[in-house]
Amino acid sequence: MSTFLFDKIIFGPVKSRRLGVSLGINLLPTDIKVCSFDCIYCECGRNPKKYEKKIVLPSRQIVQQKLKEKLEEMTTANQLPDVITFAGNGEPTLHPEFAGIIDDTIELRNQHAPNARIAVLSNATMIHKKDVFQALLKIEDNIQKLDSAFEETIKLLDCPNKNFNLQKTIDQLASFGGNVIIQTLFVRGNYLGETVDNTTEKEISAWIALLDKIKPSQVMIYTIARDTPIDTLEKVPLTKLNEIAKNLEKVGFKVQVSG
Ligand code: SF4
Repeated sequence: MSTFLFDKIIFGPVKSRRLGVSLGINLLPTDIKVCSFDCIYCECGRNPKKYEKKIVLPSRQIVQQKLKEKLEEMTTANQLPDVITFAGNGEPTLHPEFAGIIDDTIELRNQHAPNARIAVLSNATMIHKKDVFQALLKIEDNIQKLDSAFEETIKLLDCPNKNFNLQKTIDQLASFGGNVIIQTLFVRGNYLGETVDNTTEKEISAWIALLDKIKPSQVMIYTIARDTPIDTLEKVPLTKLNEIAKNLEKVGFKVQVSG
């Protein structure tokens, strides 16, 4: 039930289940979550019903300065990260200076940690913006969420804002031309009296058909690992995740499973 917010712009490094030793960048406020989805499993908790005060995001200049300081500190300690990851208290691509911040991050990475990858964990709601789309093409791990092929499941599980359109999102994901990793969180349980389960045969076959259109370089599948804001959700067993992975591998996808 208890969830948490990142209290810094630069956080970690942390050992990530999916990415290795990861230095995190949070482009959202440090005291409140801001996201275009409101996933019922979000480790940062649910979106506030109302924002009581003005949302203040860190400026491009501050992010650049803090990242530089941290990378210099890590260089001195001889502990450079495997990956620099944009994640944090919501959706990173909502930041209006996202594209410029990516350019700064690439420059700093090249100077201080040339072997580190740059990853963005995103929910794909801002990829219609040309500058966001182009910025995502410049990084190594462009990781976009697709939890179901059915709009009604996405509505139940991810609670997107009213502008969400699944068909448009799929078209935009396909236009990355394979330079995209799809991340899918599998979960079971119930919410508001409805059954939540994106692991059924119907769900999996429709989802694989969409992956076929998107042609991602990799598919990351995982389940809940920490507390979620809704306590009627259950982890999907590793055996089931492995079964889904096998189905994907059979049709040629590269898969990473985190149980
Ligand atoms: S997209 Fe990510 S940050 Fe946004 S609500 Fe879902 S899990 Fe949380």
